[in-house]
Amino acid sequence: MPAGIVVHHPIRHLERLAGLGTLLRYDLDGDPAPGREAEVLVTGGERPLGRAELDLFPRLRLVATMSVGTDAIDLDHCRARGIAVTNTPGVLTEDVADAALMLALAARRGLIAGHDLVRSGRWAAEGPLPLMPTMTGARVGILGMGRIGQAIARRMQALGAEPGYHARSERPGLGMPFFADPVALADWAEILVVAVPGGGQTRGLVSAAVIAALGPEGTLVNVARGSVVDEAALVAALREGRLHSAGLDVFLNEPAPDAALTGLPNVVLYPHHGSGTVRARDAMADLVFRNVAAFLAGRPLVTPLW
Ligand code: NAP
Repeated sequence: MPAGIVVHHPIRHLERLAGLGTLLRYDLDGDPAPGREAEVLVTGGERPLGRAELDLFPRLRLVATMSVGTDAIDLDHCRARGIAVTNTPGVLTEDVADAALMLALAARRGLIAGHDLVRSGRWAAEGPLPLMPTMTGARVGILGMGRIGQAIARRMQALGAEPGYHARSERPGLGMPFFADPVALADWAEILVVAVPGGGQTRGLVSAAVIAALGPEGTLVNVARGSVVDEAALVAALREGRLHSAGLDVFLNEPAPDAALTGLPNVVLYPHHGSGTVRARDAMADLVFRNVAAFLAGRPLVTPLW
């Protein structure tokens, strides 16, 4: 009997996965019944996959997510049920770091205001934009110095900016200043870039105190998860001029973020598309395929979480 593969969220190149088994389109019809015998579920990392939904599929042995972040999945329950989880680390790192750089530059240099000024024809009447802060020599605090954090640091160094970081553990080999907590990092930095995982351990890590420490000349860039930032505190600081600007790829409520945030003039918004390049998404889909193929063939998983 061909393997059953529950599709929880549609991922790229599903047709390739169909070569490995029968796709059970739970994402389309919401009917869990065909998936009751399935051992594999594929998902995209954004749609929540909690205990109750996992338990709709009693024979699951593998959850393969096409994402690095696993905060949407109840990992404790997967462990308890003996379900392996694979993700897609590494292959999107450079593209997400590019998005962080793009958002930092756009927020600091007023790209959206400048774009609107030119496109609207108001330039002639209104004259130039106000002068903007420079990137060269800027202190860039990176919250999370893993794969993406390090790729962001390399880009900032190439610009002549100075990266520093906070993570759970110091990495002396990197030769960058380490800060013991996020407030100290934000206090030092002019730009704070968030690159930690989402989930319970980092919820609200970018607190009102961190935003206050970043200050009125500061820019917050978030390519991690919306949950990491106290969004109400961010809105208040941006609105009251206590923070210069923000560049955001991720939000608390996706895909319909709070209008109080999206309506502000000093934010640059991107629709959780940090990994949204053909190259990255092809590589992510390929990793999902290779993990599912390995599982079905009884071989070791390529990128297991544990
Ligand atoms: P990674 O290599 O695992 O790096 C994560 C970093 O965060 C590590 O430096 C880790 O510190 C640090 N960290 C974890 N928990 C922390 C905490 N409680 N306090 C402080 N630092 C903490 O992961 P990655 O590949 O760089 O990806 C990072 C995250 O980016 C993903 O989890 C995902 O949420 C997000 N992401 C977003 C997009 C997008 O499209 N916007 C795409 C891909 C990934 P230690 O080194 O000390 O453990």
